[in-house]
Amino acid sequence: MSRTALVFTEQKDGRIRNVSLECLTAANHIVDGGEVIAVLYGEKNQAHIDELGKYGADKVIVLNNENLKSYTAMAYKQAMVQVIEHTVPDVILLGHTGNGKDTAPRVAARLGIGLISDCIDVSVEAGELILTRPIYAGKAFEKKRFVKGPAFVTIRSNNIGTNEMIKVPVVQIMDVEIHDLRATLEDVVRNATSGVDLSEAHVVVSGGRGVKSAEGFQCLTELAEVLGGAVGASRGACDAAYCDYSLQIGQTGKVVTPDLYIACGISGAIQHMAGMSQSKVIVAINKDPEAAIFEVADFGIVGDLFEVVPYLTEAFRRMQEVS
Ligand code: FAD
Repeated sequence: MSRTALVFTEQKDGRIRNVSLECLTAANHIVDGGEVIAVLYGEKNQAHIDELGKYGADKVIVLNNENLKSYTAMAYKQAMVQVIEHTVPDVILLGHTGNGKDTAPRVAARLGIGLISDCIDVSVEAGELILTRPIYAGKAFEKKRFVKGPAFVTIRSNNIGTNEMIKVPVVQIMDVEIHDLRATLEDVVRNATSGVDLSEAHVVVSGGRGVKSAEGFQCLTELAEVLGGAVGASRGACDAAYCDYSLQIGQTGKVVTPDLYIACGISGAIQHMAGMSQSKVIVAINKDPEAAIFEVADFGIVGDLFEVVPYLTEAFRRMQEVS
């Protein structure tokens, strides 16, 4: 069954976020000859349009309004509602990012349609669209389908992957009306954290209370830098003020699905596992051989992280020098 899919894209630091490209890949899997439409906010940017074509957009709609140049939930919600009403898609996809989590329920409520959030797979079985999402802090998965209305779905980063294709998208500029804004964005003040976005990083080196101090995180940062990854943390480490809460991974923090997750001095509480157990390869470094983190780890190192982590950093550095 041929479908039209609408993908709302997101930009960060002037680049299309990888999860938006994953949404385009998912859309191409399921449209069955139908059209994949990507939506860009704010202004026409040819490099972004080319990139969206490279990852499978047949058409790019550029939403034209001054108020869309930076994110506010009210403005984006109004714009999204207008594009959905204009294109009448069968499927609507966007990243399960901070902004995605903020806007998708508002749009669903405004349009009176269903929403299935935080999906890690989108497939077609016997002609029906099936969405897979983790439940019980990642201990089980449920498969869901829509019984009516468009399929409105948010996608978790780093699960679907991206596929390059060669498409030259048709571009449409669409004027949208934004009114009654209750807030506008004045400025963004960034934390001085590593350049790699934690929720989309391919490698995460994460520290827990076992790291013992803010200075203790330095050796984790060095390992993350060598591996081109980001530093994360348990809530134990954040509560102890060893690092900023923006690094917290888990049930009440960020959910990450990197190719490699290195847990250093983290016991493996269920609330932490909820944020990292879907990582492709998990390495745990802990002094306690009975630590629960070893139950989800693919590789476990029983030892003192202050000996193991610098050793790994040096070994990876040497490997990179050789290759
Ligand atoms: P600990 O449990 O104290 O573990 C420290 C570990 O370090 C131990 O296993 C120890 O053996 C090891 N260690 C010590 N020294 C060394 C060393 N030198 N080398 C190697 N290993 C060493 N937690 C989260 O992480 N994320 C969440 O989102 C989250 N949400 C929560 C929500 C709720 C409602 C509640 C109640 C709790 C939540 N928690 C969350 C907290 C969670 O229950 C744990 O308390 C927390 O994850 C423990 O952090 P930790 O593993 O760093 O610390």
